[in-house]
Amino acid sequence: MSKLLLLSCCAPCSCAVIDKLAKEKVDFAVLFYNPNISPVREYEKRREENERFCLSRNVPFISLEYDPEHWFEAIKGLEKEPERGKRCSVCFYLRLERAMQYAQENGFDIVTSVLGISRYKDLDQVNEAARQASQETNVPYDFTNWRKGGLEQIRQQLVKETQMYAQDYCGCPFSKSA
Ligand code: SF4
Repeated sequence: MSKLLLLSCCAPCSCAVIDKLAKEKVDFAVLFYNPNISPVREYEKRREENERFCLSRNVPFISLEYDPEHWFEAIKGLEKEPERGKRCSVCFYLRLERAMQYAQENGFDIVTSVLGISRYKDLDQVNEAARQASQETNVPYDFTNWRKGGLEQIRQQLVKETQMYAQDYCGCPFSKSA
């Protein structure tokens, strides 16, 4: 049976998927690698909220380094790009590539993510970044569309039920939507 690594950006985006995979007894862990989030208080808040939800479902939660300087260096020159533009492609790629490297070094067989789950995101753009990162690292990516299968309703329910913190912007200082 393959071991799955789920890259998560925050609890509201990942809770329904975590809940579903846990109920289906999938062998998986959640990975939090989001150097795009700032300021640090906000990063901590999202990380803690994501960990809290994982604990409630007995799912391993792995938090990697917080290295915003690496992220700012990678998106240099793209600060004025609109959301869904080139900056977001670099941002998706950077996080997915790191997740795949981690998967490779730690016995995971496949990676997936919820980076494209929000209706504000371009799922094709996330999938393209995942395809490139997968080619670079040789780690397979699961392209399941996590927006489907009634997960949006479950997500809304879980956010309400658990009084989950839900932010109103994507993460970086140049973003406007969640
Ligand atoms: S808007 Fe979101 S996806 Fe785009 S660069 Fe900023 S943090 Fe990354």
